[in-house]
Amino acid sequence: MTGGIITITDSNWLMSVTCNRQPHFPEQDDDLLVIWVYALFMDKEGNYVKKAMPQCTGHEILTELSYHLGLIDDLDNILENTIVRTAYMPYITSMFLPRATGDRPQIVPNGCTNLGLVGQFVETNNDVVFTMETSVRTARIAVYELLKINKQVPDIYPSQYDIRHLLRAGNVMNDGNGFIGEGVLRKLLTGTYYENILPKHHKNHDEKTDNEKSDIFHQFTQQISEQVQQQWHVLSKKLKR
Ligand SMILES: Cc1cc2nc3c(=O)[nH]c(=O)nc-3n(C[C@H](O)[C@H](O)[C@H](O)COP(=O)(O)OP(=O)(O)OC[C@H]3O[C@@H](n4cnc5c(N)ncnc54)[C@H](O)[C@@H]3O)c2cc1C
Repeated sequence: MTGGIITITDSNWLMSVTCNRQPHFPEQDDDLLVIWVYALFMDKEGNYVKKAMPQCTGHEILTELSYHLGLIDDLDNILENTIVRTAYMPYITSMFLPRATGDRPQIVPNGCTNLGLVGQFVETNNDVVFTMETSVRTARIAVYELLKINKQVPDIYPSQYDIRHLLRAGNVMNDGNGFIGEGVLRKLLTGTYYENILPKHHKNHDEKTDNEKSDIFHQFTQQISEQVQQQWHVLSKKLKR
């Protein structure tokens, strides 16, 4: 049992499965395991069950999952011993839709003295939607403001302005293979005060020998210097004219 979401990346539906620490419900029987499964590309056919997810019964969804987990030979047993509850949430990602200022109301709209709007669809300065925290935070802001309570909600850590987080995020988005230009940056910053802004390691970092790394750096600097020389040449010709 991990609690970490496991995403099956080669699933047509992009299925994910989570087994949180048990018991999931306080009164849950000892011999019962509650797991949670979801998928994001629900309009595609499954890899094993050739149907779109909303057309499937709970058992069919469980069949598709069993296939991906390599348990298809045990399917009869699994189906017989599992209760599946489904929930169709077609608007689940609606809170991530792009929006402009003014599309979403303020928590306490200007001039209101007895109306507070809370939850995921109100304007907040820098909070992240799809979290319990946003709902709690917006509710707290509404209460403090409407009741004129002199309290402030806890600050949100401004990681979006922290270069270390951004570089680490760039690395993760590239499957741990480093971000574009990382090698050059590493070369430039190593031994300087700024060295530690770079992610400690990335997946292939140790696989490249120092020679290979300096080769890549050499090629890069060579290209840059050629470009600069070319531009300089063109510019100086123009100036001579
Ligand atoms: C599958 C899933 C996984 C998630 N995982 C996480 C997570 O791991 N971590 C995290 O922080 N957040 C997670 N979230 C997000 C989080 O659950 C929500 O952001 C949060 O629960 C929203 O709380 P809320 O009180 O604003 O709204 P809700 O919990 O949606 O409450 C709104 C309530 O209003 C009721 N209601 C609606 N219309 C009416 C009406 N006309 N009259 C009366 N009542 C009405 C609804 O029945 C509901 O009970 C997840 C959400 C989903 C769907």
